[in-house]
Amino acid sequence: MIHRLRLAELIDKLSRRECSAREAMAACLLQMDRVDSQVHAFLSVDRDNAMAQADAADRALASGVTHREKPLLGVPIALKDVLCHQGQPLNCSSKILGTFRSPYDATVVAKLKEAGATVFGRLNMDEFAMGSSTENSAFFTTLNPWDTSRIPGGSSGGCAASVAANECFASLGSDTGGSIRQPAALCGCVGMKPTYGRVSRYGLVAFASSLDQIGPFTKDVRDGAILLQAISGYDRRDSTSMREPVPEYTASLTGNLRGLKIGLAKEFMVGGLDPEVDAAVKRAVRHLESLGAEIVEVSLPHSDYAVATYYIIATAEASANLARFDGIRYGARVEGSDPFQLNSRTRGSGFGAEVKRRIILGTYVLSSGYYDAYYLRAQKVRTLIRQDFLKAFESVDAIVSPTTPTAAFKVGEKSGDPLQMYLSDIFTISCNLAGNCGISLPCGFTSSPKLPIGLQVLGKPFGEETMLRIAHAYEQSTPWHREVAPLG
Ligand code: GLN
Repeated sequence: MIHRLRLAELIDKLSRRECSAREAMAACLLQMDRVDSQVHAFLSVDRDNAMAQADAADRALASGVTHREKPLLGVPIALKDVLCHQGQPLNCSSKILGTFRSPYDATVVAKLKEAGATVFGRLNMDEFAMGSSTENSAFFTTLNPWDTSRIPGGSSGGCAASVAANECFASLGSDTGGSIRQPAALCGCVGMKPTYGRVSRYGLVAFASSLDQIGPFTKDVRDGAILLQAISGYDRRDSTSMREPVPEYTASLTGNLRGLKIGLAKEFMVGGLDPEVDAAVKRAVRHLESLGAEIVEVSLPHSDYAVATYYIIATAEASANLARFDGIRYGARVEGSDPFQLNSRTRGSGFGAEVKRRIILGTYVLSSGYYDAYYLRAQKVRTLIRQDFLKAFESVDAIVSPTTPTAAFKVGEKSGDPLQMYLSDIFTISCNLAGNCGISLPCGFTSSPKLPIGLQVLGKPFGEETMLRIAHAYEQSTPWHREVAPLG
């Protein structure tokens, strides 16, 4: 049952030589063979490369290297198909990248390797991280390990499903408007979006550069703190990464909430919320209070505009970022009689419907005559949303809310209605616009079918320590994180 261990437990066993890195990696591959034909989390896995890394970790362990020097030595960690892993395929679950392979490692991947991790696999996602269900993947839909008639969330659906199905000990994904927290909530694992600038984006294929941030999916909060530690810090290759010191994140996991003020945003607890989600979150808030936190109502008055603002800014940035997929520099190419025809044929057949919708929307809001009415105005509203948070954080240490308005929905339920799909990110999007950090962790289940419910804890900019402290104290005094999915 090695595959069911938490990352911290595996590290313990590896350092006591009770299991080898090879056994840990083989356990993940075996679990994949057992369940991935039902979950469909992985696009591909280079088994030889994975085993070679595991063997190298075992050699390092045998030669006396400790987990103090290399904190993730021998731990298998999988990647969303949007992160560069040298020599491995990179598709962003799109057809347009063809047979492209990453020429270099993303900074986070280099950091994982530096910490000794066994980095493996390409995890399915919505094409170019645009979506909330993985139904926009050009290849196949990932299914929820708790109920395979349902989606795992998105866009990092493969990341969440693979952790919930115990096919890896943790994974790294990206969050532009909720793509880590939303699927983590729907699959019953822990997903964290660090503060913008906390983690280098070098080697992350850009969707919306002012919103994108890389973060971990883990089986519990401590594992999340360990991974955040490994990937955080300034990087001269990403000019938006910040020179903030990286604290010892696990030191903040005290289990104690005394003296903390936690805000409940009144705008987040209204209309459209599934009654079981509403009840679970309210129970979680009372629980936090019983652990010693003071609960304070706060207001984020511009929340109503968050989804609209996001879909202007994110699409505008995406339309510029995705211009590089032109059939000339990368990946697939459909020939044409001249470069313009080549370009339009390649993009016409290479991108899926949602990506095209975003590019068209983004080009429109940036076009002359509409720029002021849409893009400029959205930037101003973004500032107001950021100010709402900064103001709220003057009186509270963190804010809690549901992560999503409902538990996992059925495959096909929202795929025909983009607006309904967009609304599943209603609680996660403002955090990206404001740039602060957020985490989702399990806070209960719906009754029938039994599906995970997520609690979101939002922290101040660079307030990961307090955010983790709250999440950890809640988690350790509740049973939810110990539940295993039927396909786990
Ligand atoms: N679901 C949102 C979207 O479709 C967020 C995606 C993300 O965070 N990458 O844009």
